[in-house]
Amino acid sequence: CQNLQPTGPIEATLCDYETLDNVKNDLYENLKELVKTPFFRYLQMDMYRGCPFWEDDATCTEPTCSLNSVDQREIPEKWKMKTLSKVDKITNYDKLVGCYYRDSDFCYLEDPKVGEYFDLSQIPERYTGYAGEGARNIWRAIYQGNCFAPSSLQSLSNQKLEAQTCLEERVYYKVVSGLHASISTHICLDYLDHTTGEWAPNLQCYVSRVASYPERLEYIYFNTVILLRAVARLGPHLHLYDYAEGEDTAAVAAQLDSLLSIAQDAGKFDERTLFSGINAQALKEEFKAHFRNVTRIMDCIDCDQCRLWGKVQTMGVATALKVLFELDEASLRYLDTFHSPFSDEPIPDRGRLTAVHQTRTLSNGRRLSRCSILSIDSAKVYKPLISSGA
Ligand code: FAD
Repeated sequence: CQNLQPTGPIEATLCDYETLDNVKNDLYENLKELVKTPFFRYLQMDMYRGCPFWEDDATCTEPTCSLNSVDQREIPEKWKMKTLSKVDKITNYDKLVGCYYRDSDFCYLEDPKVGEYFDLSQIPERYTGYAGEGARNIWRAIYQGNCFAPSSLQSLSNQKLEAQTCLEERVYYKVVSGLHASISTHICLDYLDHTTGEWAPNLQCYVSRVASYPERLEYIYFNTVILLRAVARLGPHLHLYDYAEGEDTAAVAAQLDSLLSIAQDAGKFDERTLFSGINAQALKEEFKAHFRNVTRIMDCIDCDQCRLWGKVQTMGVATALKVLFELDEASLRYLDTFHSPFSDEPIPDRGRLTAVHQTRTLSNGRRLSRCSILSIDSAKVYKPLISSGA
């Protein structure tokens, strides 16, 4: 096993390994702090929607597979799903129940009325003992059941991937395989030695699952670029959102600033190169449908802890894909040049416009509607809302 540091361009991105390696320590330190804040560590998730594809009779009974939820009263009211999702009333979320995705989504939506709260900081992603036929079935379903006809993408080498697939298929495979490699890495990094009962990194596990396949490591880098690009694109939106309370506000704002600057340096990916050829729209719909299915397959995981992390991660990647491929530049530019509907002056503090759906009275006595631009399609909702003077 040679310790070969990857160098040069990361295929299908505008970034190289060296750039990512240069920022990775700062990125890690930054994220380590951000995920301790209540906004990021609490999450509502419906863990028992059931598997829609096959009978899920086997369950991982290892104590390492189980999960504890937290008391709802621990969650600050303003970040409860039911508060955050009020904005969905504007986009008729209620009408989607039973279908639960919008055409622009890459994942099935969680119903904000159902599910328990979890504290992710108390649930490390690590070895649980979940393995065997059940786990293999899930991975098989993800790779085979979701391949772009006619070729199967199961465990392709880089060379075959190049030869047999178009760019969109390659990106899809990299995203899924990179996620798989990331999960394997976490398992091996925090592994339970059954003989000593101690948790420790397991190098052999990492070598056999990831390091022996250089392309798997490449895809972890690839996913990092994609996610950073999505964060960079969301920059103007993220700044306007309310992440902290009281004395935390300044610290969290500084961490977010630093995250955004890293994302701008290393999130170099040109999403316009995808879905631009013949049949672009059909291919995009296929891509979306496949990834939506991956998010639904997560409900078939028989280990509660793994299911929680599987759902969190696929939802995160789906959100990034949506930001890359569905958020149009016009709506981003619109934010930058945002003007008050009541005067010709630019609004000095755009932050005031972006709390969840509420109205406030400005100092000049005018009433201003506030709505979250994170969750609504501004192209459809924002302009009519503004032109109506709401
Ligand atoms: P698996 O990882 O199950 O892989 C199956 C086959 O896929 C391999 O034989 C190989 O041919 C191929 N393969 C492996 N890696 C890649 C890759 N990166 N790209 C392409 N092909 C690949 N277990 C835990 O202990 N903790 C967890 O938190 C956890 N979370 C999980 C989340 C999900 C979504 C899933 C589906 C499973 C999770 N598991 C978890 C189980 C874990 O991923 C493995 O399935 C299990 O450890 C058995 O591993 P394995 O060595 O048999 O190969």
